[in-house]
Amino acid sequence: MKGQVIIIGSGIAGLATAVRLAVAGYQVKVFEANAYPGGKLSNIALNGYRFDAGPSLFTLPEQVNELFSLAGKNPDECFEYLRVNTSGHYFYEDGTIFHAYADREKLAKELQEKLGLSNPKPFFDYLDKAKRKYVLMAPIFIERSLHRLKNYLNFATIKGIANIFRLDINRSMHQVLCHLNRHT
Ligand SMILES: Cc1cc2nc3c(=O)[nH]c(=O)nc-3n(C[C@H](O)[C@H](O)[C@H](O)COP(=O)(O)OP(=O)(O)OC[C@H]3O[C@@H](n4cnc5c(N)ncnc54)[C@H](O)[C@@H]3O)c2cc1C
Repeated sequence: MKGQVIIIGSGIAGLATAVRLAVAGYQVKVFEANAYPGGKLSNIALNGYRFDAGPSLFTLPEQVNELFSLAGKNPDECFEYLRVNTSGHYFYEDGTIFHAYADREKLAKELQEKLGLSNPKPFFDYLDKAKRKYVLMAPIFIERSLHRLKNYLNFATIKGIANIFRLDINRSMHQVLCHLNRHT
């Protein structure tokens, strides 16, 4: 046993840290103010409806699977999820219902049919660009911890810096989206 660790909060961050530290040999205690674990990862039932308290979109399931694997559990036996075909449905006052399909071709068609997108090419370019940004930045900001100096001195970071002009760091999200709007 390496020692004791106390974690305040049983949100996904606290729980993931607790698993990693326990696997690393620490005795971990998690303290939670709420009567339930999960933090924002919970929901509220009201008048027959279910409201997410926080996340609705579950991205990167492999990160959760990794926690089970680290703890010596088979993720398939502990945690079940299904990939859905639509990430959400948007209801407009005029009766329009927009389905946010996960499939990009279907999503572009929906944008054309429901929201009047005339030319899908800028939309596909936008998705490709977002993907490029993610592929460049995930190894730096998601897969590494920035508090260690050695994590700044590696190929992924140098590649990210070399491609900094692709990242729109001087534009707000609104400006990036307006640029897309002008071309559709
Ligand atoms: C509206 C909304 C929508 C979101 N949508 C998405 C989404 O679609 N997809 C996605 O991936 N992410 C989404 N997120 C982000 C995601 O919810 C958070 O990143 C994640 O849940 C944060 O987890 P956490 O453990 O850091 O914090 P929290 O979930 O906030 O957990 C913190 C925990 O600490 C406890 N705590 C705090 N102080 C104390 C104390 N002093 N003593 C004891 N316990 C304490 C709290 O009660 C809580 O349980 C959304 C967030 C919000 C608000």
